[in-house]
Amino acid sequence: MAIGWEKEMLDLLGENKVLLDRESRDKLSKDYFWYSPVLDRQLKEKVADGIVVPQSEEEVATALAFAYKHKLPVTVRGAGTGNYGQAVPLFGGIVLDLSKLDRIVEVGDEYVRVQCGVRLGALEKHLRELGQELRIYPSTFMKATVGGFVCGGSGGIGSITWGNLWDGNVLEIAVMTMEETPRRMVISGPDLLNYIHNYGTNGIVTELKIPVSVRHDWMQSVVQFDRFEDAMLFAESVSKDDAIRKRLVCPVEWPIPSYFLPILKHLEDGAAAVLLETVDGTLEPLQAWAEKHNGRVGHIISSAQYRKTIGLSDFSWNHTTLWGLKTDPTITYLQAGFSPVLFMDQIKLIKDQFGDEVLLHFEWARNGGVVTPNALPIVRFTTEERLYEIINFFEDNGVKIFDPHTWVLNDGGRGEVGGMSKRKRENDPLGLLNPGKMNP
Ligand code: FAD
Repeated sequence: MAIGWEKEMLDLLGENKVLLDRESRDKLSKDYFWYSPVLDRQLKEKVADGIVVPQSEEEVATALAFAYKHKLPVTVRGAGTGNYGQAVPLFGGIVLDLSKLDRIVEVGDEYVRVQCGVRLGALEKHLRELGQELRIYPSTFMKATVGGFVCGGSGGIGSITWGNLWDGNVLEIAVMTMEETPRRMVISGPDLLNYIHNYGTNGIVTELKIPVSVRHDWMQSVVQFDRFEDAMLFAESVSKDDAIRKRLVCPVEWPIPSYFLPILKHLEDGAAAVLLETVDGTLEPLQAWAEKHNGRVGHIISSAQYRKTIGLSDFSWNHTTLWGLKTDPTITYLQAGFSPVLFMDQIKLIKDQFGDEVLLHFEWARNGGVVTPNALPIVRFTTEERLYEIINFFEDNGVKIFDPHTWVLNDGGRGEVGGMSKRKRENDPLGLLNPGKMNP
C-alpha cells in the first residue's frame, strides 16, 4: 500500500500513470548495462521507488514540480536500450518513463518535429511513406526513442553520410528544467551541445526537431574477403567514394560472422565480411572496389525486401555484441575511435598482442566531416584488470577508447563537460536529475 509521497503522487497523477509494484519498478529501472560485466555487478540491484508515466508536457511539469518539492531524484527513461546504465536510478526516487509522449507533431520539408517518446522505427516508417527518411539512427531503432537517442546515443546507420548527433543532426529541442516551477526552454544553435548525449542530467527534453533526408531505395550486400585487412581497405574505399550513397559500411573479422545465425547460410565459412547498405544501382562500383581489394560480392538483399526481412544493420553497431553474447556469454565490448590514417598499423598491433581475445568490427562514420573507422571491438572477458590492460594498450597506441564500462559521462563518451555543468547548475539547482551520472 502506498504511503507518504507515493500516495500523494498517486492522488496527483492518477493510478494509471504511477507504477509502484516491484515488477514494474525492477523492469523499468534497467537498461542494457548487462553487456558490461563491470556495470552488471554494480547496477543490477538498483531500483526506483516509483515509476511515473506522463502523457503530456503538462504532466511532465507536474511530476517534476512534485519531485522538486519532495527532493526526489528523477531519472528519465525512453525505451531503456542504452548500454551504460544511463537510465538506471542510482539513488532510487522516480523513473520518468516518457514513452507515452509519442506524437509526431509536424513533418516538414526535410525536417520533422516530434515528442521525445516517438520510436525511431515508427518514425522512419512514417517518413518513408511520405517520401522522406531518417538521416541517422541506432541499430536499436525499432525500440529506441528519439529523445533517448539524442540524450543517450551517438550515431549509427546513416552516420557514414550524415555524421553523428553532434554533426547538425539535431536542430532544436524543448527542455524542461527541474525547479519549483519547471520552465520550458527552446534550445537551438551551439547550446544544443550541452544537451546532446547528456543522459538527462540537465533537463528533460520533451520535443525535438531533427533534419531528415529524401527517401532512397536501399540495397543490402555482403562482400567477403580471405583477409580482414583487405576487407578494411575495401571499406575505406567505399566509405570515401562519394559516388556511392550509403547508410552502412561495416567490416567484420572472422569468426564474428559465425555469430550471425539468421544469415549464416548466406555467408562464407572462415571469411571476413563487409556488411553494406548502399543505394540502388551501386552494385557495379561495389563489384569494382571488391575486385580491386581481392573480395567478392556474396549475399544480396534487394531494395524490394527492405524492412521485410532481417536487415544487415541488425548485425552491426552494438547488435554485433548481442549476437556474440548469444553464442558466447563471456564476451563484452569496447568503443574505439581508430586513426583515419594509421588504422591498419593499429589493427596489426592489436591483433599481434591479443589474437582472438579481441575481435574487430568497424562501423565507418563521418565524424565532424572526417571519414573515420569507428569500432566496437568484442573482448573475451576474464577480469576487470585485464579489461583495463586491453583498454590501456589501445590508448597507448593512439586508439581512443570511449569507455562503455562506466556510467559517468566524463569518463565515458563525453569527456569535457564544462558547458553542461553550467547548465546543470542553472536548470537543476538541487542536483536531482539523474544524480551520479555527471561529475561537475
Ligand atoms: P534510454 O536508454 O531510455 O535513455 C538513454 C539516456 O537518455 C538515459 O540517460 C536517459 O535518462 C536519457 N533520456 C532518455 N530520454 C530523455 C529525454 N526525453 N530527456 C532527457 N533525457 C532523456 N546507440 C547508438 O548511438 N548507436 C547504435 O547503433 C546503437 N546500437 C545499439 C545496439 C544494441 C543492441 C544496444 C543494446 C544498444 C545500442 N545503442 C546504440 C544504445 C541505445 O540503444 C541507443 O543510444 C538508443 O538510441 C537509446 O534510446 P532509448 O530510447 O532506449 O534511450
